[in-house]
Amino acid sequence: MLWSRALIPTMKEVPSDAEIPSHRLLLRAGMMRRVGSGLYTMLPLGWRSVLKVEAIVREEMNRAGAQEVRMPVLSPEDLWKETGRWDVYGKEMMRMEDRHGRFFALGPTHEEVITDLIRTEVSSYRQLPVNLYQIQTKFRDEIRPRFGLMRAREFGMKDAYSFHETEDCLAETYRKMHEAYTRIFTRCGLEFRVVEADSGAIGGEVCHEFMVLAESGEATILFSEESGYCASDERADRLDPGGESPEGSADLAEVDTPGLKSVDEVAAFLGVEPGRLVKTLVYETEDGPVVALVSGDRDVNEGKLARFLGKRVELASPEVITRVTKAPVGFAGPVGLSGVRVIADYSVRGIADGVTGANREDAHFTGVNPGRDFDPDDWCDIATARAGDLCPRGGGPMQAIRGIEVGHIFKLGTKYSGAMGAQFLDKDGKNRTSVMGCYGIGTTRTVAAAVEQNHDENGIIWPVALAPYEVTVTPVKAAHEESMIAARTIADALPADETLLDDRSGRPGAKFKDADLVGSPVRVTIGERNLAEGLVEVRRRRDGQVEKVSVESAPEVVARMLNEETPRV
Ligand code: ATP
Ligand code: MG
Repeated sequence: MLWSRALIPTMKEVPSDAEIPSHRLLLRAGMMRRVGSGLYTMLPLGWRSVLKVEAIVREEMNRAGAQEVRMPVLSPEDLWKETGRWDVYGKEMMRMEDRHGRFFALGPTHEEVITDLIRTEVSSYRQLPVNLYQIQTKFRDEIRPRFGLMRAREFGMKDAYSFHETEDCLAETYRKMHEAYTRIFTRCGLEFRVVEADSGAIGGEVCHEFMVLAESGEATILFSEESGYCASDERADRLDPGGESPEGSADLAEVDTPGLKSVDEVAAFLGVEPGRLVKTLVYETEDGPVVALVSGDRDVNEGKLARFLGKRVELASPEVITRVTKAPVGFAGPVGLSGVRVIADYSVRGIADGVTGANREDAHFTGVNPGRDFDPDDWCDIATARAGDLCPRGGGPMQAIRGIEVGHIFKLGTKYSGAMGAQFLDKDGKNRTSVMGCYGIGTTRTVAAAVEQNHDENGIIWPVALAPYEVTVTPVKAAHEESMIAARTIADALPADETLLDDRSGRPGAKFKDADLVGSPVRVTIGERNLAEGLVEVRRRRDGQVEKVSVESAPEVVARMLNEETPRV
């Protein structure tokens, strides 16, 4: 491809709302343009990278035995009503009305559509298992679309759905998908981790997320080198640090805290660390309210609370809080509470001479000591884990790193097949509900994640597999005839579809800057002086390492460098 003919609108300045490197660089390198909030046009270079992700995904899904299909973007509301998600999905689901007044979802995901297909087309165990996937545009009206392709409102996703006779069979496909995903992200040249994640299900079914490691990631991953444990902070369990509560010395005292409700306000007013507060939250369950306690520097993890109780939990309404604590919202505390189950996180046990709400408007207690002033019904792990917490598999204190979720695999069980009546006849002629799994990969987010993980101050450093063009050939002076001839000779010996020839007549400095920004893993630079000796420079983008080689051997050296940068699977 000749650079002069390509649409590569590089730019120096980017809009100030581009907060993270991938967002800035994909704009600056002329890979995409914003159309509206969370909406982007992929320009030729950016789209080439997306297509490369899609090609890898397609190959590996096919290899793993999945079959590609294509479902419509629009799906009728009736299907979503069968599972209740027409309501549950809420505002994140984009909807439209047709000329007849019928409503449709713009697919945020496709469990309903695929389950509808399977319940009509699959009637016998002989047709199972089956694993179907598509690569398609998804729509989600995110509350805060941001970070460019990372959290967009319209984005690319590969979504796969598998149907099975038994849980065991599902487990086998789940394992295959796990393996396929590992191959996909390895081939993409990304550094990633597979983490145990929260499926949201009360039963605590584990699902896995594939996280690309990057500073800007929205997810926190906790891990222990020693035990190999690796989980999202939402999901990560923590061991009881054990030990007795430290001895407190202060007497319990009630202090006026007019209008001060939040942990930070109260801590600042009383001059104590937030961690000395006993944060007290009231939840509603189907069997009445429960009170959850965590230290003031932590958050209650509702998933853990629900798993511990084995029931759904929801933050209580102000009315219920007042009924339970006899005080308005913001002044709840465990001291003197009765008639309600109180569940305390391990973190509360470490508090001596703490502070908590006094169950009276505008008042808190100081000098609060667990064991002396209140006794919870249960001590357990209901706080979101963080660095330093103990690994549940005995691997000592866990470390934290940031990650970007690019893939997600999930055992759904009969959630959708049950609700929609996807049944089949088993060997004995009995009607059974199929067991389901689903598997997603954000294809456009993967491109952003690749840039997030692979860039420097000068621009993108594409992993070979995702580079829009693997090689850029740069004659320093396009007007110099011998340089252009050598450039063409080299470009012609390289794969045509992977080579960008910068034939523009601009300043050399600007051409080098553009080449670094656009980020081909290898660049061949043809300068007058070197060429006089029959030499050109082959330069690796990642570390700037340069080899001076003859014109004839340049293509071979390029191929070797690319090969060295390509991960083996
Ligand atoms: P998140 O927690 O980031 O919102 P999710 O759990 O909603 O993700 P899934 O429903 O599991 O995501 O979707 C599968 C994949 O689609 C995700 O792993 C991610 O790579 C991608 N994805 C989800 N939402 C977006 C978005 N708004 N923009 C780009 N990619 C997305
Ligand atoms: Mg989401």
